[in-house]
Amino acid sequence: MMSTVTSTVTPLSLGEFHHFQTAGVDFLYLVPSGGVFAVSPAGRAAMELLREKPLDADDLLAALVAKGYAAPDAQEAITDLFEARAIRDVRGFEDPPQDPVDNFPLQSLVMNLTNQCNLSCQYCYEFGEDKVATPDGKPKFMSEEVAKASVDHLIASSKGRRAVHITFFGGETLMNFPLLKWVVTYATEQAQLAGQFIDFSLTTNGTLLSPEVIDFLVENSIGVTVSMDGPKEMHDALRVYANGKGSYDVLAPKVKALIAKHSTRPIAARVTLTQQVTSVKDIFHHLKHEMGFAEVGFAPVTAAPDRLYTIGNSNMDRVFDQFKELAVEYRDWAVENRMHGFSNVSDTLAEIHAGINKSHPCGAGLGLVGVGPSGDIAPCHRFVDSDTHALGSVLDGGLDKAKQKEFLDRGHIGAKFDCHTCFARPLCAGGCHHEAFVRYGDTGHPNLHFCDWIRGWTDLCLNIYGEIAVKNPGFLDRFEQRKPLQ
Ligand code: SF4
Ligand code: SF4
Repeated sequence: MMSTVTSTVTPLSLGEFHHFQTAGVDFLYLVPSGGVFAVSPAGRAAMELLREKPLDADDLLAALVAKGYAAPDAQEAITDLFEARAIRDVRGFEDPPQDPVDNFPLQSLVMNLTNQCNLSCQYCYEFGEDKVATPDGKPKFMSEEVAKASVDHLIASSKGRRAVHITFFGGETLMNFPLLKWVVTYATEQAQLAGQFIDFSLTTNGTLLSPEVIDFLVENSIGVTVSMDGPKEMHDALRVYANGKGSYDVLAPKVKALIAKHSTRPIAARVTLTQQVTSVKDIFHHLKHEMGFAEVGFAPVTAAPDRLYTIGNSNMDRVFDQFKELAVEYRDWAVENRMHGFSNVSDTLAEIHAGINKSHPCGAGLGLVGVGPSGDIAPCHRFVDSDTHALGSVLDGGLDKAKQKEFLDRGHIGAKFDCHTCFARPLCAGGCHHEAFVRYGDTGHPNLHFCDWIRGWTDLCLNIYGEIAVKNPGFLDRFEQRKPLQ
């Protein structure tokens, strides 16, 4: 309320925000709340005045009127900025770090149906040089008993959720296809009994797709993400069989058959960028326009800095330049109300639109857990089968709350002091726990090697969001339900 602002006895100063200007409009990304705020001309003038020195609300109002703004407009601008926390009482305030809610209900379960794989991709986080898994002496394939206990754990731990989700993972997921089919039937029954909606997705290397598998995926409307690194020469650089032979020729026709038949869910490609594979635009073009994927997403390989496939700084700059070109293309398509398919942009826009302000970088260990073939619960699929990171067992007492708390406390944004002045923290929150462990040996360490990249990407996506909001705001409605793939 205006009275709140005018009655303040201490001067006003600028709050914490990231300013950007796009399509002729000034926007603020409000860091304490994660919101995006369009600034009026009077609001912009108020901020310029406060940039020079703190002012009492009445003096600020008088200064704006002296600049020619009508008093009601100036008042409204001050009130809006104050309520958005873009300006604040000079004493400031600190948002207390948000603690995860006790007994936060589970939403997603990642089931690693096997830790075996028919490929030997050199950069694999599960089998490569930086693996965290300790699978010796543990089952290689998940049993029906473990699968049942996993589903029961999800249902029992998700009370209050209307919808839950299971993702199948590996190793190569389809090496345990019989169990996958069993889980879909069992989990659907259990979710119905609990009054919940459930949906399924899987990640696969694509080489074991068969007409029978494709029919099952279509009939059950199962979302599919295929790990694929681009055209043949790029894909075959590291995605190889044990004998070194590339896998492109095996999976490409199978994936095309999947895409041709599976129309109920968009099929996505997930590309791992390495020092050898950084041609983002060529890869996108091949996967989107020649293979026919609906969405293509990219992630740099997770590896120690000295690995041969770790992307060096100059190549990361090159990757960013290409990300930028694709993102601008995305923006232009969105202004024309067309879906582009670069899922990194969709994912970030969905988070901006939802006003996400993260206490943790992702849902790992909070709304999401992974379960391995042994029944051990892990923060996510990447920690499955790791003794160091186990958070209990679905066969023995479920989630160990003390271990979960230790993991979450360590990864909380409040514990990452390097991030406390960073405008990108509502979306980044320090970055992937697994990447942090591989790089720094600590799941709670901020991923400082990526900061410039993350801040550049956040600024770029904010600009794209602002431009779409000005030129075709209806496009953003598709993010209301946080369904970036649709
Ligand atoms: S890791 Fe870096 S980019 Fe991410 S929030 Fe922390 S300081 Fe910002
Ligand atoms: S810890 Fe990393 S790999 Fe695991 S869910 Fe989070 S972001 Fe993904």
